Amino acid sequence: MNTWDVIVIGAGAAGLFFAGHAAGRGRSVLVLDPGAKPARKVRISGGGRCNFTNLDMDAGRFVCGNPHFVKSALACFTPWDMVEFLGTHGLTYEEKALGQLFCAEGAGAVARALERFATGAGANLRLGEAAVEVQREEGAFGVTTGQGRYRANSLVVATGGPSWPGVGATWFGYDVARQFDLRVEPPRPALVPLVCGQWSYVDLAGLSLPVRVSCAETVIADDLLFTHKGLSGPAILRISMHWKKGEFLVLDLLPGLNMAALIDAARQETGKTLVRKLLARHFPSRLAERLGGQAGGLAVAELDREAMDSLVSRVHQWQVMPTRSEGWERAEVAAGGVDTRAFSSKTMEANGLPGLYFIGEVLDVTGELGGYNLHWAWASAHAAAQAV
Ligand SMILES: Cc1cc2nc3c(=O)[nH]c(=O)nc-3n(C[C@H](O)[C@H](O)[C@H](O)COP(=O)(O)OP(=O)(O)OC[C@H]3O[C@@H](n4cnc5c(N)ncnc54)[C@H](O)[C@@H]3O)c2cc1C
Repeated sequence: MNTWDVIVIGAGAAGLFFAGHAAGRGRSVLVLDPGAKPARKVRISGGGRCNFTNLDMDAGRFVCGNPHFVKSALACFTPWDMVEFLGTHGLTYEEKALGQLFCAEGAGAVARALERFATGAGANLRLGEAAVEVQREEGAFGVTTGQGRYRANSLVVATGGPSWPGVGATWFGYDVARQFDLRVEPPRPALVPLVCGQWSYVDLAGLSLPVRVSCAETVIADDLLFTHKGLSGPAILRISMHWKKGEFLVLDLLPGLNMAALIDAARQETGKTLVRKLLARHFPSRLAERLGGQAGGLAVAELDREAMDSLVSRVHQWQVMPTRSEGWERAEVAAGGVDTRAFSSKTMEANGLPGLYFIGEVLDVTGELGGYNLHWAWASAHAAAQAV
């Protein structure tokens, strides 16, 4: 049987980053992945630009059943450490709004750098080979694939979450966790567009605007995108982490301005401005038409109190009840996952199960939109690689 210091299940962001660091520390490392290419999710990340980190890195940007868990790994591996890593591979970055860093050379270049880092350090990468079974044997771990059986002192589960199955995402990591009696917080699609049944705004599909959206206690200011099925865009992807079926979203389509005051000001000018025209000063014309509705053809001076209140509430407090999310097919990440309470936050090793590590998205750690999920993959991989 093939024997290694470490077997890594999954050649994604976390698995490859771990493998490079662990092999660099002299460990013999085998990485298994069913894909024909490694890091398939990295290749499609950030719309092909890979938003690999965020300068505004803080534990508060992550949702985790054990909120302090991420702190140690984040403290030991910062956004600038990742910038430096990419720099050593000849890659540069561009900063977008909110400290989001994207790779200027594109997501494919990041994936290639990760592969070079792992194999260059001596890790053995076996592609087209999925782990199908894991066994604990005499203090070591056995891993069976379609092609063979391997053994190692340490096992690193880096299988990611089940979102975006088109790039090979699986549920295997959760099965391994349960096999070792590790609790799994039920995974659910997150950072995902929302579907609204009986959607009567199909004609607005493709239209985008800045909004403030709230759901229960959470309020997010970002861009909204109308789709054929409902709502998307960064504002909706971000609120999807907090939305539960049966809850309303409340949208302020004109954050920072006061529609009632705008109407009053237009009344005081001449009063003759059409409501539709007033709205078109602040909204794309298709949306202005829809918001104005029957009142759109009236002059502002003709708006009675009821029509004005109704317009103001459509603009500032538009209530939408999504029926579901677009599901795993379109979710950027899985919320939930392997319960971190059973792990060391310094090393990602399972308590009471020496040599068993879980890193990356398979854990119950979900970052906000904006580079946080990839940063968690790097930081958790880095933490485990120092310990293994
Ligand atoms: C469309 C899209 C865009 C995204 N954009 C961004 C972004 O710009 N910024 C950001 O921070 N995050 C982004 N994310 C999220 C980010 O890609 C993931 O959070 C991150 O890749 C997780 O890293 P990971 O290593 O834990 O898992 P992954 O990168 O998903 O890697 C898991 C690997 O495990 C392998 N695997 C699964 N089962 C087995 C098995 N049985 N045996 C062996 N191998 C197995 C898979 O093939 C895969 O290669 C995006 C996600 C998607 C879907």
